[in-house]
Amino acid sequence: MIATKSYAAFNATTPLAPYNFERRDVGEHDVHVEILYSGVCHSDLHQARDEWGGSMYPMVPGHEIVGKVVSVGSKVTKFKAGDIAGVGVLVDSCRTCKHCQKDLENYCVEGMTGTYNSYERDGKTLTQGGYSTDIVVNERYVLKVSPTLDLKAVAPLLCAGITTYSPLVYAGVKAGMKVGIVGLGGLGHMGVKFAASFGAEVTVLSTSPNKEVDAKRLGATKFLLTTDKDAMAAHANYFDVILDAISAKHDFTQYLDLLDLDGKLLVVGLPSEQPKVSPFSLITNRRSIIGSMIGGMKETQEMLDYCAEKNIVSDIELIDMQNINEAYERMLKGDVKYRFVIDIASLRK
Ligand code: NAP
Ligand code: ZN
Ligand code: ZN
Repeated sequence: MIATKSYAAFNATTPLAPYNFERRDVGEHDVHVEILYSGVCHSDLHQARDEWGGSMYPMVPGHEIVGKVVSVGSKVTKFKAGDIAGVGVLVDSCRTCKHCQKDLENYCVEGMTGTYNSYERDGKTLTQGGYSTDIVVNERYVLKVSPTLDLKAVAPLLCAGITTYSPLVYAGVKAGMKVGIVGLGGLGHMGVKFAASFGAEVTVLSTSPNKEVDAKRLGATKFLLTTDKDAMAAHANYFDVILDAISAKHDFTQYLDLLDLDGKLLVVGLPSEQPKVSPFSLITNRRSIIGSMIGGMKETQEMLDYCAEKNIVSDIELIDMQNINEAYERMLKGDVKYRFVIDIASLRK
């Protein structure tokens, strides 16, 4: 077994605190990754605080992991010691269902195995995530990461990156299209970078007036304050695609009304409260709402390779593990530019 240091949530209300546990020994097909950086996703906070229900404790959050391979099992072919590797939101799936066979392990019919707050395929062992020094994962669920990129800024690509890349690709975003990104947080800022890199005209729709300068620096050409009723009304029927990356309770209708004929509202944000949707806003302009959950392993690798080619990484603020609880409070206030990443060296001290 591999002795592992981490920070864990022990229940929904107390702060995350140090937790020592053991990872499994490296099996024939496993890769042992010494974690260097771990991104902080709003889903970590939702689950640590049991906002979606069904949280299991102790819980070591973290599913934006970049690290160095220290050892591999005897049958591993993709990795060797010394390689830089990534682990995202899933660490296993059934591997045989119709979706797994189509490289859509994220939609595994039997349910994917989440990197944390989930059970291994044995149905008994809790998985534990990236706020930790080490992780052992089957090589099928480990990604290759270009060592030429700034690794701490690569970590958020493993969730925020793929979660925004996948629906934008699915919606066929390309030059000439008008794309709105709602919620300029960890996901939203990656959505801006990807949509702009695909050649679309990008507008950030935000509740925070102080994010306008950053929105434009990240690749947006326009900025809409969602509390400005006149500006919103002036953009009715304007967009081809809107990506909704809001973490808190909100109403879909005000964004649907901004979509042109056949416009798509791509929903990735996961507040626990049910949103309101007016059927009139759907039938007008034949609009649709499409949900999307991260991406499969093949597409995640494709996204990482695309980022390496285009030099796309996340805008981050590096923190020590010991500051995670303060980071959660700042994330709730929208006070992060635009992703916290934990320097796991701080956990080894
Ligand atoms: P984040 O960094 O905290 O960003 C969320 C943004 O939402 C904020 O920066 C803010 O943007 C906006 N917002 C917050 N409260 C709002 C409110 N009351 N009304 C309107 N806008 C509000 O969070 P994140 O890590 O990007 O995650 C966003 C959501 O996506 C979370 O719910 C997360 O669980 C979910 N998620 C889903 C998937 C998936 O596979 N579908 C994957 C990862 C995460 P402005 O300041 O610009 O308004
Ligand atoms: Zn995430
Ligand atoms: Zn499956």
